[in-house]
Amino acid sequence: MDELTRRALLRRILQASASLAIMPAALAAAPAAESCVDASSDSLRASLHYSSPSANPSETCKACGFFSADSGKPACGNCQIMSGPVDAGAHCDSWAPKS
Ligand code: SF4
Repeated sequence: MDELTRRALLRRILQASASLAIMPAALAAAPAAESCVDASSDSLRASLHYSSPSANPSETCKACGFFSADSGKPACGNCQIMSGPVDAGAHCDSWAPKS
């Protein structure tokens, strides 16, 4: 290995090390994904197999008859069954089409 190649290799190792040192700080600064749900509905959501996102894009909370939109949180809404907030793109066993 000649001197130039060794320098280039050393430079890349140092750049990679610096990137790895900065990465945890960057990840910590990233905003957490907003969750719409409330912990008080944990057991009900589990019993009704609530899942977010819905496995079926045509059967989401937003298209459910028990859902009402929340103008303050576009990705969220309120569910009559859950008695509280849910993700607009979620689904549960009580899904029913809007009438
Ligand atoms: S009943 Fe289920 S699918 Fe319908 S809005 Fe509530 S959580 Fe979503």
